[in-house]
Amino acid sequence: MHLRRIASEIWVGISPVWQTTHTICGSDHALVIDSPVTPCELAALRSRVAATDLIATHADWDHLLAPLAFPHATRFAHATTIQRLGRDHAAIAGELATWDASHRLRPRIMPDWCDAQTIFAPTTITSPVGPIEISPTPGHTRDGIALLATDDGVLVVGDYLSPCEIPSVSADAGWDDYLASLDQLDRLIARARCVVPGHGWPLDRARARTILTEDRNYIIGLAHGTRPHAPRHRADVSQQAQHRANLVAVRGR
Ligand SMILES: [Zn+2]
Repeated sequence: MHLRRIASEIWVGISPVWQTTHTICGSDHALVIDSPVTPCELAALRSRVAATDLIATHADWDHLLAPLAFPHATRFAHATTIQRLGRDHAAIAGELATWDASHRLRPRIMPDWCDAQTIFAPTTITSPVGPIEISPTPGHTRDGIALLATDDGVLVVGDYLSPCEIPSVSADAGWDDYLASLDQLDRLIARARCVVPGHGWPLDRARARTILTEDRNYIIGLAHGTRPHAPRHRADVSQQAQHRANLVAVRGR
């Protein structure tokens, strides 16, 4: 796992697994946003950070594992994330079990986020690095939040604006929610100097804007049935599969 300092008291960890990111805010009593993926990465995080608070940007399993490293930390999640976990916990836990089995890992139990402290966004919370503004961002999934640490201009966006993945549109959220969330992220980027995607290295404002424009044009193309090309990584088999899934998700509404 690679760790990059992006502000005086903010670090981003990047897993080799899908370049999944987690963001560490503060040294003592730290807040950790999202999570590493593998048991080794979780152990490394625990040895480095004393986390007391955890937040998940959304309820995809690869963002939910931090309680395995910090079982006594307070968990925070948006109301829609808690709802989704209440409804889909078995399926989400099944995806973790499948991934663990396919990587010959000892099976892990999906942490329970249903008793997390509920966040109702938009709202602002206090943190070791100052105020954090939280905005709802459905579209990739039905749930989803973006977090702006206003003192440092660091924006954590969950599974949007990834330099290593194309957009992934959920059928039950939909392209209109996705576009509205991109508009909201556009407004937030204006106040950020660093953008942390859920997958991929942190971006400066200009690069984040470029990706946002590519993704907006792609989603509009999907919505209007013009069969757009994937905005990047067109030779990548997994991104080709994601592109086909997006066509089905948007057409299926
Ligand atoms: Zn993800």
